[in-house]
Amino acid sequence: MNNRRGELFVVTGPSGVGKATVLGRLMDNVEDVCISISATTRKPREGEIHGKHYFFIDRAEFEKRIGEDRFLEHAEYVGNYYGTPADFVEQMLEEGKDVILEIEAQGALKVKEKRPDCIMLFIIPPSFSDLETRLKGRGTESDEVIAKRLETAKKEFEYIDHYDYIVVNDDVDKAADEIRCIIHTSRYKTEKRKHLVR
Ligand code: 5GP
Repeated sequence: MNNRRGELFVVTGPSGVGKATVLGRLMDNVEDVCISISATTRKPREGEIHGKHYFFIDRAEFEKRIGEDRFLEHAEYVGNYYGTPADFVEQMLEEGKDVILEIEAQGALKVKEKRPDCIMLFIIPPSFSDLETRLKGRGTESDEVIAKRLETAKKEFEYIDHYDYIVVNDDVDKAADEIRCIIHTSRYKTEKRKHLVR
């Protein structure tokens, strides 16, 4: 992997689809990949750790960072800001690591505009009712927030045509395997392209 610049993968999927679980499983079994840690103004859920799950900051600090152009992208989602730290992503790519951004659809499209060579993946649930069951079962959000997240999920599905790959999370291992294959295929294609232009 020496002298190679990393590739950027954008993973989107409706709230409750299990993105974090799938990506966690992927990370158990893949090399030279890292997941970017976002900043958010959302309050931490029980068990969430600052610097591991998110950088939890307040709105004033978030807006200051927007002003300083410190985000590769940022978006407002169900009343909170979320943003991808530009410097971390750049540093990892420079070091030859592939970087995964686990972000919602508005932010994903902004990344696609800025970095047209990024690879876009959309994780979908086996069904919409499955999503509702999972969100309610998680028990981390109020009914009002769950309703807003489901409404947002419907809107996110409208962007699906912008994505390179659709992964169905009907089985965590299978979904993680599919993403691993996508990453390996992309690395292989990049290597082959380099050979062609040599
Ligand atoms: P949650 O509050 O459930 O952790 O995340 C809500 C949504 O925000 C999810 O769809 C998640 O993928 C997305 N998200 C997390 N970090 C970022 C980010 O840095 N930028 C954007 N645009 N979305 C993010």
